[in-house]
Amino acid sequence: MSRVAVVGGGLAGLAAAYRLMRLGLEPIVLESDSGFGGKVQTECTDGLVLEQGPDSFLVRKPEVVQLVRELGLADDLVALQPRGSGSSIYARGRLHAIPPGLMLGLPTEVWPIVRSGLLSPLGKLRAAGDFILPRDRGEGDQPLGQLVARRLGGEVLDRLVAPLLTGIYAGDPWSMSTEATFPQLLELERRDGSLVLGARRLRRKAPKLSTPPGPMFMTMRRGLAQITETLEAALPTACLRPQSPVTDLTASGGGYRLTLQSGEEIQADGVILTLPAPGAGYLLRDLAPAAASSLFAVPYTSLAVTQMAYRAEDVPTLKGSGFLVDRAASLTITACTYVVNKWPHESPDAVLLRCYLGRAGDDPLGVEDEDLLGAVRQDLATVLGIRAEPWLQRVYRWPSAMPQYTVGHVARMAAVFEHLHDLPALALAGASYRGVGMPDVIRQANQAAEDVARTLSQVDREEESPRTN
Ligand SMILES: Cc1cc2nc3c(=O)[nH]c(=O)nc-3n(C[C@H](O)[C@H](O)[C@H](O)COP(=O)(O)OP(=O)(O)OC[C@H]3O[C@@H](n4cnc5c(N)ncnc54)[C@H](O)[C@@H]3O)c2cc1C
Repeated sequence: MSRVAVVGGGLAGLAAAYRLMRLGLEPIVLESDSGFGGKVQTECTDGLVLEQGPDSFLVRKPEVVQLVRELGLADDLVALQPRGSGSSIYARGRLHAIPPGLMLGLPTEVWPIVRSGLLSPLGKLRAAGDFILPRDRGEGDQPLGQLVARRLGGEVLDRLVAPLLTGIYAGDPWSMSTEATFPQLLELERRDGSLVLGARRLRRKAPKLSTPPGPMFMTMRRGLAQITETLEAALPTACLRPQSPVTDLTASGGGYRLTLQSGEEIQADGVILTLPAPGAGYLLRDLAPAAASSLFAVPYTSLAVTQMAYRAEDVPTLKGSGFLVDRAASLTITACTYVVNKWPHESPDAVLLRCYLGRAGDDPLGVEDEDLLGAVRQDLATVLGIRAEPWLQRVYRWPSAMPQYTVGHVARMAAVFEHLHDLPALALAGASYRGVGMPDVIRQANQAAEDVARTLSQVDREEESPRTN
C-alpha cells in the first residue's frame, strides 16, 4: 500500500488524509501543533458552543455538506435561523440596515440606496456615475477597491462593498485581487459596462438557476470542530502524528523523505502539503525554488475573535445577524455576529455576541487580552448601548491566519501548480492557495488526494507491467 505524508493537520490535512484512506492509500498526518483541526476549533463550556475560528459554511458550495453526510453527521447539521438573516452596517455613528436588493455586495435597485442613510447625498450622486462612466476594457486582474471606487465612488466602497466583501478575507480592498475573490465583478464591468446593471442582470437570472432551495449557511450542533474531530476519529490512530513539525523535504528512492524537527525521518511515496504558503515554500525551497518564491510572497493578516455571553436582560432586542463596520468608523472591531439570533443552539440561556478584530494593515494582537476585551466592550456600548459586563468572555488569537489573495494571486498559483507537475505525487491544498472558505479547502484536499492517488496507481501499474508481460 502506498504511503502518503500529509503535512499539516488542519481541515485540509484531515480531509485529504480521509480521502486518501478511502482511496486505499495509507496516509500519515504530520501536524506541528499538539492537536488537530488548525483554524477549526470549538470550545464547549457553561452550556455554550464557542467557535474560535470559523462559525459556519456556505451551503451553495457542496463540499462540506457532502463530507458531513459521508461522516454520518447529517443529523447534526444546523441551518441559519430566519431571525438571524439581514445585517446592518455601522457608519456615520449609527447602524443602518443593509439596503435590500444587493447582489455580490452591489446595489441592484436605486430607491433603497437613495432612501438609506448609509451614503451621504454626495456619495449617492457619485454612485450614479456607474451608469455613465466608460467601461474599462482591460483583461487583467485589478484591486477590488480600485474597481469599486472607480465605478461607484469611495463611499460605496468603504461603507458597503468593503465591509461586505473584503470582511470575509480581512483584506485591504486596495491590494485584494478581484479575480481571486469576486471574479464576477470583472465580468460585470466588461459585459454590462456598469456594476449595478450587471448585478441587476445577475439577480434577475438568479431565481432561474437550478440551486436547491435551502439555507445559505449552516453549522454543526456541537460546533464545527465536530467535523475535524470526526475526521480524526475516522483515521487510524497510528497515522496521526501531533507535535511533528516537518522541517525538510527531499526527493528520495522514487518518493520523498520528510525530516521532522526531532530529527526523525519519514519515507513516503507521495506528499500533500496543507500548511500555510510560506511553510510550504520553505519545504519546497530545494525541490521547486520558483514555486517556493511565489509561496513566500503570500501575505497574511492576524485576527482575533472574541465571544461574550450576556444575561438576556442586559442586552436590547437585536435584529438580524449582526453588523459590519464602515472602514472609516473609529471602532476596534470590524464586525459583530449576533450568535443568539443566527445560531441560538450555541447559547440557549445567554445572549452570545461574537466580534472580529484585525484586517490587513491593522494587527490586533499586540494588545493584552484585558485591553482587547475592554475595547470590544466599549464598541458594543457605543453601537448597541450594552453597558453591563458579560458573564463570560473569551479572546481567541489567530496570528498570521488569513492569507491575502493580492492582485495576481490566481496567475501566481497557476504557475506554482505548474512547477509542481515536475514533482510526481506531490500536491498542495489549503486556504493559502485556491479558496479560503471551508468548502474550498475541502475541495482542494479531495483534489490533491485524488491527484496523488492517480499518480501512484500509474506508478504501480508501470512497475507491475514488466512482470505481467
Ligand atoms: C477567525 C477565522 C474565522 C473564519 N471564519 C470562517 C467561516 O465562518 N467560514 C469558512 O468557511 N471559513 C472561515 N475561515 C477560514 C477557514 O477556517 C480556514 O480557511 C480553514 O480552516 C483553513 O484550513 P487549512 O487546513 O487550509 O489551514 P490550517 O487550519 O491553518 O491548518 C494548517 C495546519 O498546518 C500546521 N502546520 C504548519 N506548519 C507545519 C509544519 N511545518 N509541519 C507540520 N504541520 C504544520 C498548522 O499547525 C495547522 O494545523 C475562518 C478563518 C479564521 C482564522
